Amino acid sequence: MELRRGTRGPVLVLDDGRQLTLDSDEESIVACVSHAHMDHLSGMSSGVALMTEETRLIFSARGARYRNHMPLQLGGSVRLLGGDVTFSARSSGHMLGSAVFSVDLDGLRLTYTGDMNTYPSVLHDPAEVVSGTDVLVIESTYGSPVYRFAEREQVYASIVGWIRRVLEEGKVPAFEVYAAGKAQEVIALVNTSLEVPVVVSRAVGRVAEVYRRTYPWLDFVVEGTREAGEVVRGGGFVYVSNRRAPTAWRSEWAVATGWALTRTFPGYDAAFPLSSHADFHGLLEYVRSTEPKLVVTVYGHSATFARFLNRTGVKAISLDEKPLIRMI
Ligand SMILES: [Zn+2]
Repeated sequence: MELRRGTRGPVLVLDDGRQLTLDSDEESIVACVSHAHMDHLSGMSSGVALMTEETRLIFSARGARYRNHMPLQLGGSVRLLGGDVTFSARSSGHMLGSAVFSVDLDGLRLTYTGDMNTYPSVLHDPAEVVSGTDVLVIESTYGSPVYRFAEREQVYASIVGWIRRVLEEGKVPAFEVYAAGKAQEVIALVNTSLEVPVVVSRAVGRVAEVYRRTYPWLDFVVEGTREAGEVVRGGGFVYVSNRRAPTAWRSEWAVATGWALTRTFPGYDAAFPLSSHADFHGLLEYVRSTEPKLVVTVYGHSATFARFLNRTGVKAISLDEKPLIRMI
């Protein structure tokens, strides 16, 4: 069995040549689809695409519809390929329905984190550690020591403080954020911290409707509806959108992304380092808690993270540097 760096994500190649994909959009007999971000859209050309129901619904709300999906809920397992391979899903804490996948075959347990967050948020618990993991394939988006996020509560407090200030000045605090995940976190933060209505763009609203099945308390109105018109006329609201566009009201614009830690966002009034990924310290803690025999790093700063792990006595390989690894 080999692990290969496929297009988009990793591919497990069995000895008979059949492929199991982990967020890779190559052909496969079973595709594990970790979460509903477009850069992980995969498994359309597989025999079976395994994902949580939430992931399928969010993809569907964004126009990507699966015909070959098999639901696998967080905490659940399924045996496929004649019972020879067991697939399990645990929460990755990254967004609604996001999964850490484990694949058990030939006495080996390989765990793939997908994108993950190791800290609790207003919506999600941290990524679950999978015990008994032999090979940990871990994302390393922020796998460099320069990425150290402040406590989430601290970031939340600065966002809420900014919203209050902008509202007091008679303007609308507007956020340009990812339509799936970050937007819903901002909505939830406003709902739980402030008593002001939230108007969202249509794309954000479509995904937020899926979130509302799990979090019925999420409160927002969608731009263009009669309810939103009333809120806008009343003033004193927060606007959450997936793109920055001219508004009919006076606004200040903010972004909320982990990249705000190291990049500037000219033309924006504020940039908050709010990430849906683990930072360097979180990745390290996850590896330590999992205690795998081998770590394979993928995405982002994978080479830096693998080098660091090797220096600390943990055997690690970057799949971006070494795109084919013999497993057993
Ligand atoms: Zn993601």
